[in-house]
Amino acid sequence: MPLKGDLPRRTWAYRADGPRRAFDQPERFEAHLIGFRGIGNTVGDPFSGKSGPLEPAVILRLPDGRKRCFVRGTFCEADQAYIMDLWLAEMDRIQATFDQTERPVKKFTSARFGEPGSAYLETEHFRWHSGTQQGTGDDHWSNEGDPAKAKIYRDGSLAAAEYWWAFNEHTGALMPFWKETTEAGRTRKYGITIAGTKWNGHHVQGGYAGGGYGGCGIKHVLAGPWPHGLFHEWGHGMLANEWQYGGGEAQADMDQCIARPNTRSNFHIHAPCQNVFDDGKGYGKTTFYAITGEDPNWGHNYHNSLPIGVEERSLFQTVARVGEQRAFSRTECTVLVTGWASTARDWRRSTAKWKRC
Ligand SMILES: [Zn+2]
Repeated sequence: MPLKGDLPRRTWAYRADGPRRAFDQPERFEAHLIGFRGIGNTVGDPFSGKSGPLEPAVILRLPDGRKRCFVRGTFCEADQAYIMDLWLAEMDRIQATFDQTERPVKKFTSARFGEPGSAYLETEHFRWHSGTQQGTGDDHWSNEGDPAKAKIYRDGSLAAAEYWWAFNEHTGALMPFWKETTEAGRTRKYGITIAGTKWNGHHVQGGYAGGGYGGCGIKHVLAGPWPHGLFHEWGHGMLANEWQYGGGEAQADMDQCIARPNTRSNFHIHAPCQNVFDDGKGYGKTTFYAITGEDPNWGHNYHNSLPIGVEERSLFQTVARVGEQRAFSRTECTVLVTGWASTARDWRRSTAKWKRC
């Protein structure tokens, strides 16, 4: 999300206990804030000891003109608060531009958490189903030992999901059914079943995580106010998940990394000689989407919103067709696609010295 208007310039300070600061970097430096990457949450995980806000990553323009992404946890608390204030203001700005279809929020829960029963919670775009009692020792959603923290955990989960929806709507990537209504005339919502909770006093919902069109099941929301499992399983419901090459787990993992920019398991760094997607499953092959998403021709989160052709089995077929349909000439389209491939190839070559393959 790029910032609008005058870009704020600030002196940034690394956290003393923060990650990844090279030994020769200064503790403070000046830079312009030019945008955000991923999302944050006003609520942290109260069971983790880090109940404070979770800031998004920021893109800073350094004094020599370079642009760099700085992930959550890099900067001091004052910088963190500054990032959150600006990000929330920008979220208000973009959400005012969204589809204004009225999405009533109903509450069906009659049972209380801690007592036998089941729960149904709704927000504007999501519906959540769970048991109301603790099903396993690590069930924080229905934690009976500390019900006040469990409520914060649930509230933070619901908030995170709505921030995720907003991010996707802003980037043009919407759930396929987003404008459909149910037979009862209600707007459809993404359904989440919380595994690991106890239903009606006796049944502990099994399972860990799995997702598809319109919903998912995730144990304890993996993990509450920062539901990385939801970000991943959401990806399994997107059209791009159907690609044989570049879809599947590669695409779903990328959704997780887009929510919080990092290079999960770094497949492209560990084995750059094995092509960008060397099989149909693709856990961890996420860096490719990140580096190509910085190309303004495609944009961040582009892979979730590309229109997929019926016969297209790979990301590259889709990109070539969309390029042509955008009225690039054949030559320009070829340059675009081959240039893009060259970017990935050059990047792999430049990292080949790290290879383990
Ligand atoms: Zn998956």
